[in-house]
Amino acid sequence: MYDVVVIGAGIIGTFITRELSKFDLKTIIIDKENDIANGTTKANSAIVHAGYDAKVGTLKGKLNAKGNAMYAHVCEELDVHFKKIGSFVIATNEEEMDSIKDLYERGCKNNIPDMKILSQEEVREMEPNLSEEIIGALYAPTAGIVSPWELSVALAENAADNGAEIKLETEVLGIEKNEKGYVIHTNNGDIKTKYIFNCAGVYTQEINEMVAPRSFTIHPRRGQYNVLDKGTGSIVNHVIFQAPTKFGKGTLVTPTVHGNLLIGPDAEDLEDKENTSTTSDRIAFIQEKSRKTTTKVPFNKTITSFAGLRAVSNLGDFIIEESKEAKGFINVAGIESPGLSAAPAIAEYAINILEGIIGELNKRKEFNPRRKPVIRFMELTDEEKAEVIKKDPRYGRIICRCENITEGEIVDAIHRNAGGRTVDGIKRRSRPGMGRCQGGFCGPRVMEILARELKMDIKDIVKDNKEAYILTEETKQNKPEEVTA
Ligand SMILES: Cc1cc2nc3c(=O)[nH]c(=O)nc-3n(C[C@H](O)[C@H](O)[C@H](O)COP(=O)(O)OP(=O)(O)OC[C@H]3O[C@@H](n4cnc5c(N)ncnc54)[C@H](O)[C@@H]3O)c2cc1C
Repeated sequence: MYDVVVIGAGIIGTFITRELSKFDLKTIIIDKENDIANGTTKANSAIVHAGYDAKVGTLKGKLNAKGNAMYAHVCEELDVHFKKIGSFVIATNEEEMDSIKDLYERGCKNNIPDMKILSQEEVREMEPNLSEEIIGALYAPTAGIVSPWELSVALAENAADNGAEIKLETEVLGIEKNEKGYVIHTNNGDIKTKYIFNCAGVYTQEINEMVAPRSFTIHPRRGQYNVLDKGTGSIVNHVIFQAPTKFGKGTLVTPTVHGNLLIGPDAEDLEDKENTSTTSDRIAFIQEKSRKTTTKVPFNKTITSFAGLRAVSNLGDFIIEESKEAKGFINVAGIESPGLSAAPAIAEYAINILEGIIGELNKRKEFNPRRKPVIRFMELTDEEKAEVIKKDPRYGRIICRCENITEGEIVDAIHRNAGGRTVDGIKRRSRPGMGRCQGGFCGPRVMEILARELKMDIKDIVKDNKEAYILTEETKQNKPEEVTA
């Protein structure tokens, strides 16, 4: 019998699980996918918002500002890339200037520190590549950028290092209430638990309705992006948003923590909770929109596009509460943007709800907040590189030439707690395949390493989800002597 089951291993579920691992609790996190962060957490803008945008008094408003302030510390503990580069909301006319002044006022009420309205000259000085049409901007220096999937994986790893269990490819099919708690029926057997956190992203509505009548709805709103090659990120120094207008929120242009440039997203309401396909018309739309910010985006350096699904609730705010009909069942639903930014604060808030139910939790003295540091070969000095290769020659073998990723880094990403088991899982952990060729050259090598290290048949190594197989059978079935001239 578990004390707590966390359903959903996105940024919210992994943050909560890591928080739970600080206490004397038997905890498990489960997910239907074959990797951590395979839902919305792998496909978003990766911005840690400052927090001026959310309506005053909402959970979004309170938890965004708080979460933002917690980011630097948790990313330092877990050795995850996070850069506090600040954000601009640009204005190109007086109406937009009014809109950014409103945002400034709202930011003050949300207690966002150090914001400033910049003049045209100040904008030009800080961001020389932006459009000449810009007449001012709201500057929020506390905004940042992060790698959401790296963080989610690191949280899961640290939680597992501290005793939490992880069970992937485990889809919740039904939940039964009984006098001791719950029995969760999955495709991977039944799981008994006293308490449940429902962190299933776009599926939180369905999971909630397994134990209680409908109290909220969630529908998916898709957003699409372009990613440009490494190096292009230096076109801008900050996250650049457009001022919200009656036509929408506009498109953002931002560097990523790894030096790429990200353009997007649009917003499109859908029915299908699995539809993360990209479409040429929407990509053309975001490209055109980005020209209002800058005309200097080199779209010929686009290396890929992707789409993510916002979990939009009918209630308009985060839903973080114990179900009224199911004691000990806590919904963490409707976590659309700024969910990533608020995630550390959401986890604390959720644990407070659990403490409200079962009383003060016992802290584990042996909790270790740090995970084993990650060797990122290209970030080392020449002396450090030589030292690392001396200890383990696999760090001297480059597998991904676009991103300069070594075999040592890939092997390490496989063997950690919550390690990668798929080609994209390795790509998200140590970046082979993230570059210009998108795995065209290194993909087969990564598959060989995965098969060797996990002692699996190479045909069973998939790209991402379990249907995304790469190899089926040998193309040359005939033995040489059977081949006729
Ligand atoms: C286009 C876009 C841009 C965004 N930009 C930002 C941003 O810049 N900054 C920001 O703060 N936020 C942003 N967000 C929001 C942020 O991405 C989300 O708030 C966050 O990723 C939600 O995380 P989650 O863990 O709730 O959901 P998810 O990451 O979707 O995780 C839910 C998990 O539940 C699992 N699951 C579902 N059903 C079941 C089941 N039956 N059994 C077992 N497991 C199940 C799924 O497989 C999934 O892994 C953006 C979102 C989108 C879509």
